Amino acid sequence: MDFIKQHRIKSGKKVDLSEMETRVKGPFADKSAAKAFTAETNDAIRELQYRLFVEGKQSLLVVLQAPDAAGKDGLIRNVLGQMNPQGCRTFPFKVPSKLELSHDFLWRIHACTPAKGMVSVFNRSHYEDVLVVRVEDIVPKQVWSERYELINHFESLLRSCGTRILKFYLHISLEEQLERFGKRLENPAKHWKLNLGDYEARGKWDSYRSAYEDAMEKCNQQDAPWFVIPADHKWYRDAAVASIVRQTLEDMDPQLPKIDVDLDEVRGLYEREQVKLNDETK
Ligand code: ATP
Ligand code: MG
Repeated sequence: MDFIKQHRIKSGKKVDLSEMETRVKGPFADKSAAKAFTAETNDAIRELQYRLFVEGKQSLLVVLQAPDAAGKDGLIRNVLGQMNPQGCRTFPFKVPSKLELSHDFLWRIHACTPAKGMVSVFNRSHYEDVLVVRVEDIVPKQVWSERYELINHFESLLRSCGTRILKFYLHISLEEQLERFGKRLENPAKHWKLNLGDYEARGKWDSYRSAYEDAMEKCNQQDAPWFVIPADHKWYRDAAVASIVRQTLEDMDPQLPKIDVDLDEVRGLYEREQVKLNDETK
């Protein structure tokens, strides 16, 4: 199945999240089939990421946005965090600090974009500045409404420097979210996640939906696409994102560098060292 084709938001089209499914099985017969697919895909991603790192010419930025409990952390644990940490870093973006707020909204974001050869995963991102900031009225409309264009310019800048951008919205239903909140309540090890603000945001579900729809519509350039991933089944979410990352890395086609040493010469040196070692250990 082509997960990119399936979940990519078409540019220039109105986005209506209420029309998009949250509970999807895709090509998978069951959970274990999806998990096997994800494990295999993760292996391929690791191999491609190794090439990306060694090549050192291109980079990948993965943006994760979602309502609370939609599974950003799980996705990072099961898929994105499976890459070699030497070439991949995750950046959570929380409420901005005083210092961050004294700069433009992209300042803290730009500092975390991937260098050549690297992958950056954004757990929340610059999109919060047209989502929570808009819904909670943190800055006037005149300020946030100009940000869509600024974001498009910013993402074009990154693209022009060889950064591929994938933006994922993890799409869960209100029912599934409440069930997950309930599980957090039952499990003392998850009590630290309990947050009154999460319940407040549920009350503003429609406003958040509209803000997401606008962001996906206005900031969906050809080379920085949005994907809506059905996320009620955690295993489908992981499999779909893994597949899209894999396909993208395959398309980037990172190459191991051409060698500029004489293989015969190196072989000669190697054999000489072997002989020396043998002589010494006799
Ligand atoms: P979890 O799903 O585990 O709760 P989380 O990503 O929600 O993880 P939290 O520490 O609960 O992490 O929340 C971070 C908070 O920071 C979110 O409510 C988010 O909306 C807020 N935030 C992020 N960026 C901004 C921003 N630019 N302006 C205002 N608030 C922001
Ligand atoms: Mg939270």
